[in-house]
Amino acid sequence: MSYTEEVYERVVAQNPGEPEFHQAVKEVLDSLKVVIDKNEEKYRSLSVLERLVEPERIISFRVPWVDDNGKVQVNKGYRVQFNSAIGPYKGGLRFHPTVNQSILKFLGFEQVFKNSLTGLPIGGGKGGSNFDPKGKSDREVMAFCQSFMTELCKYIGADTDVPAGDIGVGGREIGYLFGQYKRVRDLYEGVLTGKGLTYGGSLIRTEATGYGVVYILNELMKDHNDSLDGKTVVVTGSGNVAIYAVQKATQLGAKVVAMCDSNGYIHDPNGINLDIVKDIKEVKRGRIKEYADRVEGATYTEGVGIWNIKCDVYLPCATQNELDLDGVKTLIANGCKYIVEGANMPTTREATDYAMANGVLFLPGKASNAGGVATSALEMSQNSQRLSWTSEEVDAKLHQIMVDIYAKISDAAKRYDMPDNFVVGANIAGFEKVVDAMMAQGIV
Ligand code: GLU
Repeated sequence: MSYTEEVYERVVAQNPGEPEFHQAVKEVLDSLKVVIDKNEEKYRSLSVLERLVEPERIISFRVPWVDDNGKVQVNKGYRVQFNSAIGPYKGGLRFHPTVNQSILKFLGFEQVFKNSLTGLPIGGGKGGSNFDPKGKSDREVMAFCQSFMTELCKYIGADTDVPAGDIGVGGREIGYLFGQYKRVRDLYEGVLTGKGLTYGGSLIRTEATGYGVVYILNELMKDHNDSLDGKTVVVTGSGNVAIYAVQKATQLGAKVVAMCDSNGYIHDPNGINLDIVKDIKEVKRGRIKEYADRVEGATYTEGVGIWNIKCDVYLPCATQNELDLDGVKTLIANGCKYIVEGANMPTTREATDYAMANGVLFLPGKASNAGGVATSALEMSQNSQRLSWTSEEVDAKLHQIMVDIYAKISDAAKRYDMPDNFVVGANIAGFEKVVDAMMAQGIV
């Protein structure tokens, strides 16, 4: 059995009940086989892969808080500090009822490679809670965030571990978390990113993930003598990533015709009116369904199936494993040529393999959604310097980072004779830097 297969079997045996983590590890190990095979003895004797798949530390804790009825609620809190070879742990916090250790380990593992690809000095981590912010009052969200941070603040810091947002954690939550960190630790430091602009946040951080997705899509298209101009695009989700992907794609001449949330999807053949989506999602914290009531010609369909809408470009920006084999088959049958992931691992392994085998140009999230965390790293730099850069400066840096990521993953794929296999390219390019740094630092 090859070394990569052995390590995968060990991961499955030693981490029972963690299917998402197994899935993320398998994809990476399968990609790395060509690299490992060249130098298997060395990697094996140093247990490089065993170290890579084992988080440096997992913190798990109780989060008690009082709801508006005076009842005490208890949630689970976690921080997975996966790898600090190239910088302090960096990665978001997810608040969603589905959160468990498997999901946070998969996200933390992906984050290690993603952060490496940004070229910036950030290690990988992820955290969160099974708390569901949906339907909670501001006071309840604050009570939860304060309790969560009262425990988490013992383990994080501007040079140790810098969390940010993810699903269910936006500007409001980051504000409450930052306030409690400062109060308990008595430190005004850049311990979280995605902060508000009045207290150390960076311009463009809100837009960064979605903009980055479209910047790298644009590079991919340019490299294949194509452009977004006049293309029909479907963007899944309607959170922060989706909203700003729609904005940038529209600015670059595309027509985005559909978005969704976990209840259903909207189709607007005239092109999505983003002001209305923003009002529904960002101001009213409502459901995407309302769009069809407010916009003439738009329809709402309850349930899954957004992939039935014909498009040239599909940007899955909702959540893990949202796009399966049937979905991808339908997309391709309808002429879809590009799939670029805005969410983390939104495409199942079968769907990814099918798409790539059938001529779709596919960019994996760890490369294509890296603009968010990259801009977080820019926020960390500004906090350390106690300066704030203009939005033009940050946007230009973000754009260049995405151009560089495309070049890196395309080059790695070519070096291993798999041109346009950006899954392999991203995994190899991300791995090379992390492993080099780990080896240089000895047995740690
Ligand atoms: N949660 C985002 C991600 O998946 C952003 C993390 C960050 O900004 O630290 O990369």
